[in-house]
Amino acid sequence: MNKVGFFRSIQLKFIIIYILLLLLAVQVIGSFFTQRLEEDLLDSFKSSISERVELLSYNLEQAFDRERSEEDEGPTLQDEIQQIVQDINTDNIATTVNVIDNQRRIIGTNKLNQEEELGKRTSMPIVQQALFFETSQKEDFWEAESESRVYVHVEPLIDSDGITVGVIYFQSSLDEVYGQVEDINSIFLQGSLLAISISAIVGILVARTITKPIMEMREQALIMANGDFTQKVNVYGKDEIGQLAETFNDLNSRLKHSYATIEEERRKLSSVLSNMSDGVIATDNNGSITLMNEAAGRLIGENPEEVIGDYLLDILQLEGKVIDLTELQDSGSMIIDFSDDDTPFLIRSNFSTVSDDEDEITGFITVISDVTEQEKVEQERRDFVSNVSHELRTPLTTMKSYIEALTDGAWEDKEIAPKFLHVAQNETDRMIRMVNDLLQLSKMDSDELPLHKERTDFVEYFHQVIDRFEMNTPEEITLIREIPKGQSLVWMDKDKMTQVLDNIISNAIKYSPEGGEIRMKLDIKRHYLLVSIEDQGMGIPYDKLEKVFERFYRADKARTRKLGGTGLGLAITKELVEAHHGKIWAKSKEGKGTTILFTLPLMSKKRRDMR
Ligand code: ADP
Repeated sequence: MNKVGFFRSIQLKFIIIYILLLLLAVQVIGSFFTQRLEEDLLDSFKSSISERVELLSYNLEQAFDRERSEEDEGPTLQDEIQQIVQDINTDNIATTVNVIDNQRRIIGTNKLNQEEELGKRTSMPIVQQALFFETSQKEDFWEAESESRVYVHVEPLIDSDGITVGVIYFQSSLDEVYGQVEDINSIFLQGSLLAISISAIVGILVARTITKPIMEMREQALIMANGDFTQKVNVYGKDEIGQLAETFNDLNSRLKHSYATIEEERRKLSSVLSNMSDGVIATDNNGSITLMNEAAGRLIGENPEEVIGDYLLDILQLEGKVIDLTELQDSGSMIIDFSDDDTPFLIRSNFSTVSDDEDEITGFITVISDVTEQEKVEQERRDFVSNVSHELRTPLTTMKSYIEALTDGAWEDKEIAPKFLHVAQNETDRMIRMVNDLLQLSKMDSDELPLHKERTDFVEYFHQVIDRFEMNTPEEITLIREIPKGQSLVWMDKDKMTQVLDNIISNAIKYSPEGGEIRMKLDIKRHYLLVSIEDQGMGIPYDKLEKVFERFYRADKARTRKLGGTGLGLAITKELVEAHHGKIWAKSKEGKGTTILFTLPLMSKKRRDMR
């Protein structure tokens, strides 16, 4: 914000108001004073003239009244009048005193240079009025000739018989009076100017006492607007401005406190947002993104800073699927498929709205998380339950139909009855095997199947296992050994490893054609040994090679079921090999044969020496 210029400032307004008030006061006082002064001066001037005229009229009336005979030696009336008039002490040269008789002839004057006027008739109306009305006449007027204001007093002269014998014409200039008034006015003006100058200075000082704290508060407000609450304004007094400053400081500390609280909340929120594994996206009520945390950016593969302002539905690839954001809120949560051709990727989004005090929606919060693994596990669980139910129902249905047949009378048939019972027994065995396998897998899943590992010479052990199989294998199938001589020590649970080899070898025998060969090979590498069991059976399709190790997977369902398989053998085998820190995989050429290979770590030299 700009600084307030002097011409717009309160300071100038104060000064102007001060001066205007003072001017008004001076004007009122001045005009009243000069008017009264003028009136007083004029009054006293006029009364002094009246007094003089009165004295003069007395003397003149005496002169008129004096008895004069023809032979009288004394001065004539005119001389006497002239003498009286001239004796008048007129300190003002502009004063004219004429004595005029009742015939309007001038019979005396104080102006020596106007003596030739004596005897002349005057036609002045004021003189006529005084003679006519026999009363004194007064007037003041502007005399153009002398360029001054004059005052004229005409007093009738009445003799002892009560006859008006003439008038005294007394004219005096008012210049002196007005001169005095003007002098006083100019003194007054000077005083006023001085008073105005002083009041302007006082005004500045007074205005400063008001504007200074206001300016300080303004500057403080600007500092506060920038988030700095450390400074306070000075409190200069207890008046309204002082109270305002105190309130301002109080406001400052409250704001400081709220700001600190908000800042702390913001930091907490930001730390929670950046450390949480779930993604959070906030939008305004139009669905434009206002905030996105790092986790959300990672999940949807966008830079959180670059998507600010983008539309949420575009970013979540929901355009076309969802039209209105409020629909999302109703749906609560949804799974969005971000998978590409190679990798599955599923995101769960939970939507919620942000409302203000009046329940108006001001924005949306979307929390997203990667549920690919969870969904996969969930799917596996569903498949597993369905597989188990299916696998158990099949033998049970078979058994049920055979037992029904027996109950319906077949039990009496000596040929059929044992066959039916044999089937039922086989199915029961298969079910028991399956349940046992499931139990074992479940124990392995929950780490409840302990391994009793011991130091074993794998070469010798492998021979023993194959020996056992040789005794039970049909003659058409040949078991070939490719086992090196010597000793190779491994740290293993013999029973579990027997289960592993039993599963693989029995599968190989199961799927071998008549006259087929099964090649059992042992390769001893530097740190591990590699066991491979190769048959010449029908093989496994390439894309199913990994699946054979999954639970309940069978490459050829009908056939394997006929062969009594449960579909769990290789799954258990894989778990057991991995529990021995080995790896297992399959190779196959369809129609030509299958090789199942697994590794086992050899005992380290250190461990070997310890024993
Ligand atoms: P099963 O008890 O059905 O044999 P496994 O888990 O042992 O179950 O094997 C899973 C599936 O892998 C079998 O159903 C079969 O289709 C396939 N399989 C396993 N070993 C071989 C093999 N040697 N030759 C061909 N297919 C095999």
